[in-house]
Amino acid sequence: MISNNTNGQFEHSLARGRMVDEQIINRGVKNEKVINAFRSVPRHLFVDANFSHQSYNDHPLPIGQDQTISQPYIVAVMTEYLDVQSNHKVLEIGTGSGYQTAILSHLAKMVYTVERIEELSLQARKILNRLNLKNIRYKIDDGSLGWKEFAPYDRIIVTAASEFMPVALQSQLVANGRIVIPIGKNSTQVLTLGVKHGNRLIQRKIFDCTFVPLISNK
Ligand code: SAH
Repeated sequence: MISNNTNGQFEHSLARGRMVDEQIINRGVKNEKVINAFRSVPRHLFVDANFSHQSYNDHPLPIGQDQTISQPYIVAVMTEYLDVQSNHKVLEIGTGSGYQTAILSHLAKMVYTVERIEELSLQARKILNRLNLKNIRYKIDDGSLGWKEFAPYDRIIVTAASEFMPVALQSQLVANGRIVIPIGKNSTQVLTLGVKHGNRLIQRKIFDCTFVPLISNK
């Protein structure tokens, strides 16, 4: 019998290993740094305690406030397309549970994350602090206009669906910078990669997806 502690850490780490092998590597994600980040971030800490037994399953989960933590595979694909380097400044719009933030924090130099719902931002910050991830700055605001103070960013990731490519975010990208964002309405959304060439953003469709909407008051 393998010993276990009361928090079920051993089960969680087994489930995490299976998640990485079956849902991420077997489906074609190749970037070793991305894969290692998924091996090290304890996803079960980012979901509501009632759902923690499902936290390594192959689907999104509720995180309160009518929002969701994305399916692990989707987080992995978005992260791989983002192609984050260790000297990068990354802007994330939609902190949510903070899970994607944790993954980015393992890969980037600094992560700037914006969330419009205060409760979610504060809860995410609590967990990320507990994990001792220090290269993260938080803002509670409508992120559809980005975060001008620290622009430009090498990479921008948006984890809520926008009806169009937000112009403000494009302007906060460095030359050759990349943005990964779901674009579209309700059930017709396309995960999109944008690469900035000069003042133009060359866009490429990744695949169809379903995210909660990016809500903008501005
Ligand atoms: N990356 C998150 C996914 C959260 S779902 C995770 O891993 O858990 C998308 C999040 O975007 C929600 O928390 C929602 O509140 C937030 N959001 C929606 N519109 C926003 C906006 N305009 N600015 C900032 N955050 C926004």
